This record gives sequence, structure tokens and C-alpha cells, in this order.
Amino acid sequence: MSESARFVLVGGTVHDPANHRDGVIADIWIDGDRIIAAPADTTGFTKIDARGLVVMPGGVDLHSHVAGTKVGAGRRIAPQLARSHPAAVPTIHSTGALYAALGYTTVFDAAIATAAAAMAHLELADLPILDKGIYLLAADEEAVVAALDRDDLREAARLVGAAIGTGRGWAVKVANPGGPSFWKHGRRGDHHDLDTPLPGRSLTPRLLLDRLARVVQSLGLPHPLHVHTANLGLPGNWRTMLETMKTFDGVRAHLAHVQFHSYTGGNLDADSFGSGVAPLVEWFNAHDELTLDVGQVLFGDTVAMTGDSAAAEHLAHATNVPFMSHDLHLEGGCGVLPITYREKSLIHAWQWAIGLEWFLTADDPWRVVLSTDHPNGAHFLAYPLLMKLLGDEGFRREALARVHPQVRKRSPLAGISRELTLQELCIITRAGPARIAGLPHKGHLGVGADADITLYRPDSDLARMFAMPAKVFKAGVLVAEDGEVRATPVGSTLNAHPHS
Ligand SMILES: [Zn+2]
Repeated sequence: MSESARFVLVGGTVHDPANHRDGVIADIWIDGDRIIAAPADTTGFTKIDARGLVVMPGGVDLHSHVAGTKVGAGRRIAPQLARSHPAAVPTIHSTGALYAALGYTTVFDAAIATAAAAMAHLELADLPILDKGIYLLAADEEAVVAALDRDDLREAARLVGAAIGTGRGWAVKVANPGGPSFWKHGRRGDHHDLDTPLPGRSLTPRLLLDRLARVVQSLGLPHPLHVHTANLGLPGNWRTMLETMKTFDGVRAHLAHVQFHSYTGGNLDADSFGSGVAPLVEWFNAHDELTLDVGQVLFGDTVAMTGDSAAAEHLAHATNVPFMSHDLHLEGGCGVLPITYREKSLIHAWQWAIGLEWFLTADDPWRVVLSTDHPNGAHFLAYPLLMKLLGDEGFRREALARVHPQVRKRSPLAGISRELTLQELCIITRAGPARIAGLPHKGHLGVGADADITLYRPDSDLARMFAMPAKVFKAGVLVAEDGEVRATPVGSTLNAHPHS
């Protein structure tokens, strides 16, 4: 690759929100794997014509599921899906290629049990092109729970720090706080609130979240505690999400796939299920310590996979499909099941509308990350469609007209005219997630940044524009062009180094 060494992207329309560039014509200079200032001596730099193209940093997926036992189980549980939709649960090799061809250059797997970290790394070593990292379910272990129960945060920090070190993790994830303890004691899938003590302990899920967030902060990890709170997918769970947000008053926390946690209602009947987004957004907008990813649902076939076995079991019962559960030394697990989201399903239509409502009513795009909780809400290949729904009101209106009539009537979506701009779409897919994940060299095109760069052809059809970048560079290497993979360099694994 002669182009990879030293080159300049000439005359592109640059979207670089971190450096306050919103659609300005600029040249981007690259030396090796880094972006540099315009050099005094330009000999030896290859010129690449970027005139007429939109230039953005490479995409950063902050919350996805691409490796580990749950993904392997997903491939096994849905073989018919694998036949009809070959990309549904892609192999690790095609995962890297598909992400890269989409303009993404960094991905995090958001739920790896510490006991399974070595396996996940083995698998991720085969994920080409992208830089990658894992969030460890480091608080599922009984010893950590016991230390948090004693309010011995030094010991908890020692254990969590050691887990991050040996598991080569990037962040700490908690999936259904206290859930593994309830699960082990036979309380599966039923509602517990944040103030129900864990079996045999005085520790409640609320105390666990509060203490664990402070432990993560004390370890100086790049990303704050990554929180998948209790009661995922259950009617009425907006209250649990609000209580979760209140728990972190002043301490940074990232809320995962909030769409799955924003429902009104007491049971699955048509009249009570609905959107609890408004009071949640109100709290979120007023609290800068919180960031979130949405976990958007899009219609079609996919596979749900979660470290929250209880939620998976509940969903499998409710939808009457087979479900697979893994326990790992009784220290964590996962649940996996196939799912088809339908426009005419009341619940699915609500989920779709609730996710969009989050994107369109949260004020600060820097604290909101585009995700589908791949593959739970939809495949990552559906991101361009989601970007069109957010950036094109007419298209969104047409889509809303096709969903279940109750949702059409009752969702606030019908009254929302906001369209995210290209700059805002750039923030929620790269600049914001890079900043929230704690990656100062990513998500921007300033001097010293990694040369992870995506060039798009401007198109009034945003889905077409974002589905097929003209060129994608990873660490200065041209890895994809017009949907074709050009090179498959090995990306790096992102490891955090906790303070001791
Ligand atoms: Zn997830």
C-alpha cells in the first residue's frame, strides 16, 4: 500500500465537531498512522482528491456484541437466520470487514464475563481492521459483591482493577445490578427494584451501582461505569431508569441501551404500555454526568443476546421462542434468543418510536450515542437507515405511518420535527462515542489523531450515503472503497491501565 505512508486528502468537506469544523473545506495531512499539521516540505506526500466528498473521523461503536460465548451461541441458535440473512450474526472475520466497509474503525464488545475474557480476546484477535476493546462484567463476581456489601471500596477497587488487568478490559459493565445474585437464588425474571436487598446481604442494586461507579472513578478508567440497569424490557421500567439516573448524582455513569428501559405500563396490555421517555429525558438533559447509548430497535430479524439472563428468559417466555442460557462458573452468564421486530406489533412499534424519541428530544448530542445494541435492537448494518430516520423528517413520517395505529396516535414522535444535521450525526457516531469511551486520539481529525478517516459521497438519501463510504482509512491504510474491502490490517486491542 503505497498510499498508506504519507498522503493528503485534498479539498474535502470536513466534519470534525471536536475541532469546531462543521462542513468546511480543508486538507487533512497523514503521516503513517497519524494526522499531522500541514508540513513545510510536502515532497513525498501523495495527493488524494477529496473534493466533493464529506470527510469524517472513523466511526466508533461504543456498545456492540461481536465476540464471546453469547455471539457463538447466537450463531448456533439461529441457523435458519444465518441462511436467510448471512450477515445476521457474522463470523468474526466478516464482522470486521462489514464494520470497516461501513466506515467504522473502532468497536467495543459491551459484555464479557471476566472468566471468559481470554476466550473473547482469542476471538477478537481474528477481528480484522478495527481497534477493539471489551467491557468486563467485573462486578458479577461474588468477591466483588461481598466487598461492595461491606462498603470496602478499597478492596472492591483492588479486585476490579485486577480483573481489568488480567482480563485486558477497557471498562467495567454492570448488567442488571444484583441480577446474577437474584438469578443464582432462583428469582428469575421477576421485578425487583433498586432497593431490594440481594439475597443474604444488605447490599441493594442501588448501593451496588453507587459504590461501583465510585470504584471505577477511583481506578481512573477511561470510560465511566457502563450501566445496563435492572428490569430491561419490562413494562413500567421507566421508573427503574429514573431511579438509576438519580443514584449517580454527581458521579459519571454511562447508561446502556436506554430504549429498553423507558417503558410505561404495568403489564403487556395495549393501553398501559407506552413511552416513559419524557421524564427521563428531562432528568438526563439536566445532568451532565450522565451519557447514554440508545439501543434503537429497527424492524426485521435479529438475535437478542445479553449478559442479563433473567431478561432473556422473560422475553423467551413472552414470545414463546427457544432460548439459550450460559452460566460461567456461576459468576456470570448470558441469554440468547432469535427475535423478529414487526411494524404492526404494538410492543415493537413502541420500542422503535421510543428509541427515536430519545435521540430527538435529548438536547446534547455529545452525551447521546447511536447504537442498536447490535444485534439486540438491530444489526449494525442498519445504522445508515437509523441515520436517515434521524436526519430526514419526511422519511421518518412515512415510516411512522406504517406502524401499529396505537403508536401512531400516542407516540410523541408525530409531533417532533427535529432533523439531526450531518454535524450532529457525526457527533453521535464518532466524536461523542470516542470522547465518552475515553479515546483522545479518536473521533476527531486534529493534529495527533489516529488516521481513522471516512469519506462519504454527499447524498440527499442519507441511508445510501452512510451505507457505502467512498473511502475508509484505518491508521492511514485504505481499508475499504465503495463497499469493497481493500486491506485487512490488524487493529490494536484497547487495554485500560487502572490506578492501583
Ligand atoms: Zn448490549
